[in-house]
Amino acid sequence: FNVPTPINEPVKSYAPGTKERAELQQALQELKQQHLDIPMYIGGKEVRTGNTLTISPPHDHQYKLGQFHEGDASHVTQAIEAALAAREQWAAMPWEHRAGIFLKAAELLAGPYRARLNAATMLAQSKNAFQAEIDAACELIDFFRFNAHFMQEIYKQQPESALGMWNRLEHRPLEGFVFALTPFNFTSIAGNLPTSVAMMGNVVVWKPAYPQVYSAYVLMELFREAGLPDGVINLIYVDGPVAGDVIFNHRDFAGIHFTGSTGVFQNIWGLIGQNIHKYKSYPRIVGETGGKDFIVAHPSAHARQVATAISRGAFEFQGQKCSAASRVYIPASLYEEVKGYVQQDLASFKMGDVEDFGNFINAVITEGSFDKLARYIDAAKADSSVEIIAGGGHDKSKGYFIEPTVIVAKDPKYVTMCEELFGPVLTMYVYEDAKFEETLTLIDTTSPYALTGAIFSQDRYAIDLASKRLVNAAGNFYINDKPTGAVVGQQPFGGARASGTNDKAGSMLNLLRWTSARAIKETF
Ligand code: GLU
Repeated sequence: FNVPTPINEPVKSYAPGTKERAELQQALQELKQQHLDIPMYIGGKEVRTGNTLTISPPHDHQYKLGQFHEGDASHVTQAIEAALAAREQWAAMPWEHRAGIFLKAAELLAGPYRARLNAATMLAQSKNAFQAEIDAACELIDFFRFNAHFMQEIYKQQPESALGMWNRLEHRPLEGFVFALTPFNFTSIAGNLPTSVAMMGNVVVWKPAYPQVYSAYVLMELFREAGLPDGVINLIYVDGPVAGDVIFNHRDFAGIHFTGSTGVFQNIWGLIGQNIHKYKSYPRIVGETGGKDFIVAHPSAHARQVATAISRGAFEFQGQKCSAASRVYIPASLYEEVKGYVQQDLASFKMGDVEDFGNFINAVITEGSFDKLARYIDAAKADSSVEIIAGGGHDKSKGYFIEPTVIVAKDPKYVTMCEELFGPVLTMYVYEDAKFEETLTLIDTTSPYALTGAIFSQDRYAIDLASKRLVNAAGNFYINDKPTGAVVGQQPFGGARASGTNDKAGSMLNLLRWTSARAIKETF
């Protein structure tokens, strides 16, 4: 058995007249007709509590897509017990069989599940067809295939043995259960966080963010069809603090795999610290949190290239990527040209629901998110120290629509240059051409985050200088490319500082966190 180095799953175009487009349109209609009644999954059993919450598309909030059953503290306990009951057999399963399950999941997702998972992601998370394809299909398929390969590479690494002895490393799963707390913005991340942990032989309690429950359910159908045994991944929908109270007080809590906000992650870290004496082992704490990602153009940059990076890097999926550009530094000599191209691009972006494939911009995820973004935009409109050069409109009558908005600030520390907004709002600061070096220092010190960033330049000295000065300002650094769209196996993803523990999703570094090695020496 050998898992070869995979190649990345090719992205389908969904162009008019293609087979994939027809299949996706059919899957959208089918899902809407099904009005799914979504249970939790505990120990392989569907659990319906009768306490149902409605699922509506963010772009059409009065439409009822389906509903899900919310649980309480007792369901968290049941999920932990089901995970622990499955642990022994799962941990003893040869890794090749575990890999086999996820390699099968990859094939099912590349084939029969592709349209259904993309459609679920489009409807409930308001992603357009292309954004769903690069996330729910391609990236998740890549996670399954690459993680299986990386697991094999980890197991292959063995220590030296002197004559007359045999030294070996045995990769044991963690002793307990792992909690996967997953975000709404990437179905692939929601799929990867529980499965990368499970692949390494661990058992999991998985709690998705509520706006992603709809596609999480489709994922669970996929895992089950791929042959995942009951109890290995238990899917629950429980209010965060209620779930946390049970999980972080449990003796068998062995780790958390998290993507979400910095505030929530820091609270969790504090809770784990307070309870540290209760646990059997020191829990593994792995998290990807916020970002305030930058683009900086040097005077030697190509204006058209910078503008494209801004238009795509800040506004695809309504800017709701941790990696999305949200602060941009432009030299005065390039400003008018870059501004013209960005205005042109944004004017060409159509906004609306996901079923019209021509819409580039869709809705933001919730009313809470809409209201927060609208507040920042309205404050900018009322502030004479800033100028809005594109967008500025918002309307939540049918869906949570925010126009892609560009603010130009005279103060490089203006509030939207510093705070993470997580939406289609970008702030630009124009610097004097001669102050490139000072601008690099400004970038490094303006935000507590360090996730992604990009430098645009045709001058190698400037590129080298930026790489050095911004060495700790981004975990993913892009030269002449937009700061979003990391590809599994090509750009391992994650940041440091307030952006996370930088355990690089889609790499061996991440999988290593989910094993507890035993070194064995035998003499002959
Ligand atoms: N990996 C994604 C990217 O490179 C971002 C992930 C996130 O938003 O958490 O764009």
